[in-house]
Amino acid sequence: MRSFTYTQLPGRVVFGVGALDHLPREIELLGATRALVLSTPEQEVQAENVAKRLGTRCAGVFPRAVMHVPIEVARAARDEAKRLGADCAVAIGGGSTTGLGKAIALESALPILAIPTTYAGSEMTPIYGLTEGGLKKTGRDRKVLPKTVIYDPTLTLGLPVGLSVTSGFNAIAHAAEGLYAEDANPIMSLMAEDGIRALAHGLPAIVKNPKDLEARSECLYGAWLCGAVLGAVGMALHHKLCHVLGGTWNLPHAETHTVVLPHALAYNADAAPDAMRRLERALGAPRAAQGVYDLMKALGAPLALKDIGMKQAELDRAAELATTSPYFNPRPIDRQGIRALLDNAFSGRRPA
Ligand code: NAD
Repeated sequence: MRSFTYTQLPGRVVFGVGALDHLPREIELLGATRALVLSTPEQEVQAENVAKRLGTRCAGVFPRAVMHVPIEVARAARDEAKRLGADCAVAIGGGSTTGLGKAIALESALPILAIPTTYAGSEMTPIYGLTEGGLKKTGRDRKVLPKTVIYDPTLTLGLPVGLSVTSGFNAIAHAAEGLYAEDANPIMSLMAEDGIRALAHGLPAIVKNPKDLEARSECLYGAWLCGAVLGAVGMALHHKLCHVLGGTWNLPHAETHTVVLPHALAYNADAAPDAMRRLERALGAPRAAQGVYDLMKALGAPLALKDIGMKQAELDRAAELATTSPYFNPRPIDRQGIRALLDNAFSGRRPA
């Protein structure tokens, strides 16, 4: 029998090829007149283009976002927002840039308008992260949830194929864990299944032709759905493992999510049969964990932790860190099982 609680997060989404043309209208709707545009150094050109579109409503550009929001960068961005009298932050980029916007919003309550250019999904969540002294702390606060998100697939045409694939699996991981979340609900499960379907369908076309705008649109649509799932329900083992591996050994975010996913799914398969059926339907594969692994392999994704910077000698410590504090997972967490999972992920074996 069904029983669930469902909370709808607020937020406005404008989606479509050319959606960036609506930026002036959207800024006006937010009532902002002095927007600070954020980006990474690599995407400064895109940030300048956004600034140009904003015209007199742009207060300045801060192109210094980096992975995992170091506190020093967050402070510098907050100071710049204050100095310029900014009344809004426009974040164009992936999770790192959105994360910097969230760091500003956390302290100032400035509204964020996010323009995502990867599939990470941070723009749909009230989750923020800040790194201080090498330690990344995360939290949830409604204040940091972007008020408006403009998804324009045109902006993802230049996302390198390798990053498109791993970012896509990062998104699929949010939806997959959302299907067996402790607080899963029917709406989020619908979104999760369609998000996975869209990405599993779009990613192979992007690998064939990175400029395929139809496929780019399909994947960005999938990323939106998967990000919304991450924002609305709790995660489990997979996200815990990725947080441990990324936070302790600084492994690359999207690649780590990609490599770990089939193994986390294999670990949970028997404990979450309904979630697996939905994943299988979305992937068009007879078994979820193996289906994810086979898709990764077909798309040339990294398959093994050993290939993305993990050392075998650290696996015991990783298993320890992932099993010391309790958290929800459909299958109980046992140290030996997690150690075996990590071993499989380290070597890149196909789940049995
Ligand atoms: P990223 O934002 O670090 O981007 C990676 C690189 O790709 C950057 O150099 C960026 O400038 C470049 N790039 C992005 N889009 C591009 C495009 N269209 N064309 C060319 N280059 C482009 O990577 P990410 O995977 O999107 O984000 C990872 C970060 O986001 C991590 O810190 C992760 O913890 C965080 N994250 C947070 C949440 C959340 O809900 N808070 C969700 C997902 C990820």
